[in-house]
Amino acid sequence: MSKVIDGKQFADNLCEKLKAEVALLQEQHDLSPCIAVVLVGEDPASQVYVRNKVRRCEQLGIHSVEHRLSAETTEAELLTLIDQLNNDDAIHGILVQLPVPDQINDKAVLAAISPKKDVDGFHIENVGAMAVGENQMVPCTPLGSLMMLQDHLGDLSGKHAVVIGRSNIVGKPMATLLLQQSCTVTIVHSRTVNIESICRQADILVAAVGIPNFVTADWVKEGAVVIDVGINRIEVDGKSRLVGDVDFDDVQEKVSAITPVPGGVGPMTIACLMYNTVAAAKMQNNI
Ligand code: NAD
Repeated sequence: MSKVIDGKQFADNLCEKLKAEVALLQEQHDLSPCIAVVLVGEDPASQVYVRNKVRRCEQLGIHSVEHRLSAETTEAELLTLIDQLNNDDAIHGILVQLPVPDQINDKAVLAAISPKKDVDGFHIENVGAMAVGENQMVPCTPLGSLMMLQDHLGDLSGKHAVVIGRSNIVGKPMATLLLQQSCTVTIVHSRTVNIESICRQADILVAAVGIPNFVTADWVKEGAVVIDVGINRIEVDGKSRLVGDVDFDDVQEKVSAITPVPGGVGPMTIACLMYNTVAAAKMQNNI
């Protein structure tokens, strides 16, 4: 019987520790970690994500300042706001919820955020720091996934990790983190030949594809640990449901551990955003 890794519980535990740390920062250093969350437009999924992030901040005593901008906002207007936030010492983290509307170049937005306040870890300076093993701000989804893997497996060194997907926000940073842990890392993607047979070699399989139930039991090795990053909305019997990139029911019996969707990587992503915000506040105040 495989273990279902409870990402919600793991995230709650991490947030409890962060809440205590936030209280201590206030008490000992008169420091209140604060994140600015910027949402441009009315994308329904983004609104849910922002709401969940702000709610978590409230639970932990982290201040959050929301900037909700219209879908017609120009790139120049958004960059002006980011510049103000960069120069505001009371703001320790800046998160611009992606995607932004088409008239705004998301690369220009990410480049404009001060690397020290880049709690998403997407700024090229933070990406470069990670590539040479000097982690500063680490992207939240891969960080949360790594924490769960380490909690379940302990030392990861020597394990063969296969990451499905090569995006800048999940696949690539996940592979970098696993390499830092001395895993043997393979990245597979949309052009990979014989993808199933490569996945079947994995001790650790991370799926970050965006295709519902993409990975089935014949793709996984007996006893592997599976991290399902995917969040896909599908219709089942006329009802809307969230599923991952892994066919959970099919794969569960074969693996030693697996994260569910929902309740796996998702809650850990938000918890790691809180973690990065606290880390950023400490770093900016030399604590
Ligand atoms: P993306 O679309 O940027 O990247 C998807 C990757 O999958 C690409 O690198 C592509 O090469 C690969 N891919 C596409 N089709 C493939 C195929 N047929 N075979 C093999 N590889 C294929 O997506 P992303 O931003 O990396 O997100 C991936 C999934 O993770 C999505 O479902 C997204 O919603 C989810 N996600 C979840 C969280 C979370 O907090 N749990 C955070 C970020 C993303």
